[in-house]
This record gives sequence, structure tokens and C-alpha cells, in this order.
Amino acid sequence: MTVYEALKIFKDRGLPELEAYLVIKKITGKTKEYLVIHPEYQFCEKNFFDLLNKRLIGFPLAYLLNEKSFYKHNFYVEEGVLIPRPETELLVENALKIINKEKIKKVAEIGVGSGAVIISILLERNCIGFGTDISKKALEIAKKNAKKFNVLDRLDLRLGKFLEPFKNEYDEIELIVSNPPYVKNNSDLQKEVMFEPKEALLGGEDGLDFYREFLSSYDLQGKIVIMEIGHDQGDFFRKKGWDVIKDYSGNDRIVIKDFRR
Ligand code: SAM
Ligand code: GLN
Repeated sequence: MTVYEALKIFKDRGLPELEAYLVIKKITGKTKEYLVIHPEYQFCEKNFFDLLNKRLIGFPLAYLLNEKSFYKHNFYVEEGVLIPRPETELLVENALKIINKEKIKKVAEIGVGSGAVIISILLERNCIGFGTDISKKALEIAKKNAKKFNVLDRLDLRLGKFLEPFKNEYDEIELIVSNPPYVKNNSDLQKEVMFEPKEALLGGEDGLDFYREFLSSYDLQGKIVIMEIGHDQGDFFRKKGWDVIKDYSGNDRIVIKDFRR
């Protein structure tokens, strides 16, 4: 089939033209610019319909393309790992500010997923990173991204809950970053989100299970903690004296607490 025919099929199904180009690019390896000026270019129809049909049932585009742009880079993703969200870039931005201001050298991330957050941080600052996840698949992908971006020599990735795998290194950690699962268990998830791993998203009845367990099991004295939260979870943290930062939509999104004083 031709590029022209494929574009028309996408259009008829109500899917954006840009997605069609990205899908054809994935199949053919040609750039979008090439495809735009060669609408008669022929490629494999079966591959096209396989991807189109997945897309039509809501399979996320990032999983189809095996990439998601986050902060300043394109991260490898695949089914089984959370697709990094644009709102999480605010977590990176605020972590970077803290790292500068406090001259932080050792940063830990709980729940690295694809590694997008900790790797973005390491690419901006000459820090050492420690990352954990309870998902083996997530760690595999984080490692793949760490290799892709050449930071594996500064990033120690280990399987386990919270910071359990880094008991021996715990005292050295100065900043703890996390975008944990915080969605309420009974939430209506969007069609696309249903394809993502539940353990990356669901945080119990009120979405706060991760925070409660983490805060009650660790002595955070001497450290700074920065985490992403859900839009309606700010008060839980305000009551405990945390700073709450809003995202660009005006929703509570990031919480920070300095446990050094
Ligand atoms: N940091 C990535 C990002 O922002 O795109 C992934 C965030 S995802 C919302 C949460 C991640 O935390 C998932 O990869 C999940 O497997 C992991 N996770 C959930 N509970 C955890 C725990 N108690 N300890 C470590 N990792 C956990
Ligand atoms: N913002 C994500 C969503 O609603 C949730 C991410 C998370 O639980 N950390 O899809």
C-alpha cells in the first residue's frame, strides 16, 4: 500500500495524521519529511493493519512506537512499563532546582519505571543515582534507557520495595525522588491507561497507600524528599507540614519536605 492510502485510512477512522506518519515511519524506517514528499511510497500493508488495529482498540501510541519523549529526551518504552507523563517533568524540574541549591550529589528514585525521571536528572547534573522498582520488567527497561543515554556508570538499579535494596547506601542518600502509584483503586481509567501496569498506577482506596507505608517505615532525617501526588492529595501533605507545588493546570502535583531541620 502507499503512504497516501494509509493516511486516508487513518483520517477515515478519526485518527490524527501525525500518528499515521509515526506508524509508517516505524514500519519503513523513513523520516516523516521523506514520507510527506513521497505519498506514492509503497510499504507492507500487513504491518500497517496490525498496528492500526491495535491503535483502534486503544493500545497506546507510545507502546506501538516503543518511544516516548519526556523532558529533553526520547525514552524507550514497551508494554509492562508506565509511559512517562508530561506532568512528571515538573518533578524533574523541581528536583534539579533542589540539587543545585543544596549541592546534592546522591539521589535515589523509588519506582523508576522506564527510568525517565532519574535518567533526565543524571543527564542534567553530575550526580550519582540509586533506583528501585518492584517490577522486573521496569528495571530491565530502565537499564536499557540508562545504557542508551550512557549513565549506567552513575546509576545503580535494584529490584525491591522502597529503598530496601539500598540499606547499606541509605545514609549517603541526600535526595529521594518518587512518582509512585497514587490513582484510587476504583477510578475509571481511560481506555489507553488500561493497557498500563496496574502496580504502577493504583495506590489503594484513597490512592495514598504508598505514601503512608513509605513515610511510616523510613527515618528520613537528614534527607530531602520530593514526590509527585494526585490533584486531590495535597491536603494530606499540607497537614504534615510539606510544601505543595501546583502544576501548570493549577492542580496540586508536587510535594517537598526538607527533613534536615
Ligand atoms: N518513575 C516512572 C515515571 O515517572 O514515569 C514510573 C512511575 S510509576 C507511576 C510508579 C512505579 O513505581 C512503577 O514502575 C511501579 O512498579 C513502582 N512501584 C510501585 N510501588 C513501589 C514500591 N513500593 N517500591 C518501589 N517501586 C514501586
Ligand atoms: N497521572 C497518572 C495517570 O493518571 C498517574 C501516575 C501515578 O499514579 N503516579 O494516569
